[in-house]
Amino acid sequence: MEIKTNDKESLTAVQKLPKYDSEVLQYVSRLLRVWVQDEQQKTIRPCYHFLVRLYPKGQVIRYEICRNPDRKPTASQVFDFLCRTLLDPPNGEDAHRPGIISFTDQDLETQLANMLNTLGIETQVLQPAEGLEDLVKAVSESLIKRDLATRTDASERPGMLSKPGVDLSMIQAFFTAAYRLREKGPWSEFSENQVYGIRIDDIFRFVVVLGSSDNVFGVAVCSSLSRFRQKYCQAMGSQYSGSSSSNISCAFCGAEQLLVTYRCTQCKVAYYCNEKCQRKDWSVHKQECHNNALWNQKLERPFLQRKEMTLIYCSETAVPFDDLDLQAKYSWPLYPCEENFPVAFVVVANDGETSLDRPNKEELQWLTKLCEVLVESCGKTPSSLNEKALMEQNKWIFVETLSNHK
Ligand SMILES: [Zn+2]
Ligand SMILES: [Zn+2]
Repeated sequence: MEIKTNDKESLTAVQKLPKYDSEVLQYVSRLLRVWVQDEQQKTIRPCYHFLVRLYPKGQVIRYEICRNPDRKPTASQVFDFLCRTLLDPPNGEDAHRPGIISFTDQDLETQLANMLNTLGIETQVLQPAEGLEDLVKAVSESLIKRDLATRTDASERPGMLSKPGVDLSMIQAFFTAAYRLREKGPWSEFSENQVYGIRIDDIFRFVVVLGSSDNVFGVAVCSSLSRFRQKYCQAMGSQYSGSSSSNISCAFCGAEQLLVTYRCTQCKVAYYCNEKCQRKDWSVHKQECHNNALWNQKLERPFLQRKEMTLIYCSETAVPFDDLDLQAKYSWPLYPCEENFPVAFVVVANDGETSLDRPNKEELQWLTKLCEVLVESCGKTPSSLNEKALMEQNKWIFVETLSNHK
């Protein structure tokens, strides 16, 4: 039975409760960090109500699943939860009214202030209580332990904000660009066995647009063309005969060399795409130019160690919770279809071992611009591979068809 805002009997009962003037409670609703099946067998993240006593003693009073667990509760559902808890407090406490109920959400406070005031309870907006996120995690864990919920491998991976230097505005720009790409849907225009090249912010990368052959939509980005050839052979079940590591890469941006190669005239060891890359690398390279020991250590360069980057559109269960929460908090656009959530990952190769990481600041900004350029490039014929095109920024260059490569 729901206690409605016009349920006079229950409201009078709440009004008659003794009042603990100094007591401050806080109401919060949160999506748990687990997946459950709803009544229609749809996989959802359940939303829970939490009522916490902030003062005089920090304490969780009650938490329970929301009536419509796949969305934020309405103000009247929150009101019902509050009144039920006040009338029938758990843990054998005496029923009473608090002096103040605080909310973390301004809209909710505005909607409920009048009703609670008539019950003699003040309202305010406060930051979520300390320890709330731990409580959400603990409740999630307990559901998993009791086999009532599940979690995917991807769910607890770090979110995009976990990388130093990455901020909200960058993530928002990425979401917006990825949304426009999903909406534009150039999946049939680009074939998965065609490699394109593009230079953005003086970083040259090879790109394959995924989506022409199956249901995986996105883009794969790599500094090495032979890596793409190798992957294509693997996917086709054939043996890759070419070499994978002997190609010369640019010391600045890491791109495998295609046509022209500039070399440092002093040490003759460092190769570059062009003069621009060489100039940009000089602040790092000057330390190693006359010092072979340093050269062998491979000084830190923004893109060198990180071999591949992908943007894939996933269903929510394949997305880290932290990213889902950010998107929900800021209402960034998502294309209305099943697999619509843009997820960016970087494969990091370190001494033969590979691991997954989230894009750093430079990578995220690069990927965002790539989506924008790809949207702009739709319907236009890419430039053919030539020295001038290689040097130009934001120019989509056709490099090769993988199936033709022998
Ligand atoms: Zn370069
Ligand atoms: Zn040099």
